[in-house]
Amino acid sequence: MSAIPLEGYDPRFLPSCTKCGSLSVNFQWARHPFQWGAKELKSSCYTCGQIRYGESQIRQDCDPQLLRWKRAQQEEERLLQEEILLRKAREEEEARLLQEERARLLREKEREQELLNLLALQRAQEEQERVAREKEEAEKKKELRERKANQRRDQRARQRAREEEKLRAQEKQREYARSLVQRGKEVQKMVAEALLRQGEKKVRIHPDDDKCAWKDCGNLPAQNSKYCSRTCSNKNARLNYRNRKTSPPSE
Ligand SMILES: [Zn+2]
Ligand SMILES: [Zn+2]
Repeated sequence: MSAIPLEGYDPRFLPSCTKCGSLSVNFQWARHPFQWGAKELKSSCYTCGQIRYGESQIRQDCDPQLLRWKRAQQEEERLLQEEILLRKAREEEEARLLQEERARLLREKEREQELLNLLALQRAQEEQERVAREKEEAEKKKELRERKANQRRDQRARQRAREEEKLRAQEKQREYARSLVQRGKEVQKMVAEALLRQGEKKVRIHPDDDKCAWKDCGNLPAQNSKYCSRTCSNKNARLNYRNRKTSPPSE
């Protein structure tokens, strides 16, 4: 209930009654009722009514309690400190774990980013390769097309050359035939002139481009005849005969 007003007692320390253990103990300075003299310290318990006199008596009553109280205080202080230290350690551990977790998350994020970058790089590389491959294929196709076109061109050129060769050969043959015909005409002319010089009257001198008179024949006419041969002459005679038979005899 009240602190002990003596040197060496903590004002927070409240002693209890040595008889009943109650904390309702009061201290005051008073004169002893049966002894005349100076005032001395008096403790009175409100619960059981025990009264004690004198500083030495009160010290004797309270010192063991004070000792226990001090020990309890120390213990409490120690526990408090321990608790504080523990809490601090726990908080530090939590902070450390949080820090680690943050670092881990950051590392994971960085790894993820690195992976993404790598993937992007790979994709870009693949795209590049694909484009290069397509280009190469297109070039190959182009080359093939050009080669085929060249082959076709060469083939056509060879074909043309063969045809030209053939035409040249035909032209040569025709040339030769024409020269033969010309020679024949010249010979005929020479023979006719010779006959005329010898006094023959009925000698026909064919012009250079004269032909057999039968319509389907292109041969040279024979000497002294419109026709090349007896055959063409007969063909003409038969035609004339047929014409006379079919047409009405009006003339
Ligand atoms: Zn008491
Ligand atoms: Zn003829």
